[in-house]
Amino acid sequence: MDDETRRKYLEAGEAVQKAKETARSACEPGAGFQEIAQKVEQAVRDAGAEPAFPVNLSRNDEAAHYTPGPGTGRTLEAEDVLKVDIGAHVDGYIADTAVTLNTSGEHDERIKQNRNLLEKAVEFVEAGVTVGELGTHIQREAPGDLNVIQNLTGHYLGRYVQHAGVSVPNVNNTSEHEFKTGDAVAIEPFLTDGTGQVRNGKPGNIYRLESDSGVRGRTQRKLLDRIKEYNGLPFASRWLDPSGRERMALQKMVQSGNLEHYDILTESRSGTVYQAEHTVLVEENGCTVTTGDI
Ligand code: MN
Ligand code: MN
Repeated sequence: MDDETRRKYLEAGEAVQKAKETARSACEPGAGFQEIAQKVEQAVRDAGAEPAFPVNLSRNDEAAHYTPGPGTGRTLEAEDVLKVDIGAHVDGYIADTAVTLNTSGEHDERIKQNRNLLEKAVEFVEAGVTVGELGTHIQREAPGDLNVIQNLTGHYLGRYVQHAGVSVPNVNNTSEHEFKTGDAVAIEPFLTDGTGQVRNGKPGNIYRLESDSGVRGRTQRKLLDRIKEYNGLPFASRWLDPSGRERMALQKMVQSGNLEHYDILTESRSGTVYQAEHTVLVEENGCTVTTGDI
C-alpha cells in the first residue's frame, strides 16, 4: 500500500471516529432515527469524507441493514439495543465501524463483552494469520452465555467496494486465506442471546447499483445519474429525497435487477443482537486500527 492510499484510509477512519462521538450524543431516548442518521452522516461529511453507506441503525433483534427511510417516524427507546454501523470513504478508501448503544444501562455487560471480543480479534490479526485461524480464535474467545452469529461476517475492503470478495467469519472455518501486509479488513463479531443465525426480513431502505444497463424512461434515467454519484456504494432512498414518481422508478429498477435492495437482517429467534466493528490495516507484526476506540 502506498503512503497516499494509507493516508486516505486513516482519514476515513478519523471521520468515522468523529461520527461515533456524534452518534453517542445524538442517541438519547425519544430521538428520531431520521435525526440521528442525519447527524451521524453529516459528521462524516464535516470531517471531509463521504458516507460509504447509509448509517445502519438496527435495533434489538435487527442485526443489520436498517436505516430510516424518507419520512420514517421511528424513535429511540431507553431499552433499545442500537447498533450504529458507520461507513466513511475518502476517494473510495473505506472505514467501516460499529458500536452498540443502550441508554438504559441494562446491556452494558454484554456490550462490553462484545467490545472485548473485537479487541481480542484485532490483537490476533497480522500478516500470515489465516481467515480460518481468526474465526476459530474469535469463537473460542466468545463469552459462554452468548452465541456468535454464524452467518454475518467481517470482510475485506476495496476501493469503492465495501465487501471485497474475501469474507472473514467469526466462527471456526477452513479458509486458508492469509492476511497480507496492506490488506484493509473490517472485523466485526456479532453476539446474541438468540440462536446465532440471522434471516432476511423485510426490505429496508438501502440500495446499491448493480448494473446501469437497459434503464429506460426519463425518471429512471435521471435517478440513475444521481445514483451513479455513489460509485457503486450502497445508498439510502432518503438521500434521493424521492418524489412519488421517483419511488416508483426505484422499485422498477429493483425489479429489473439494476438495483440491489437490501433486506433488513433479523435474528432468527428474535434474540437481541450486539455488534462491534473495526477496520484494520494489516501489518507485518499486528495491525493498525483506523477506526479508533469503540
Ligand atoms: Mn459496518
Ligand atoms: Mn462491515
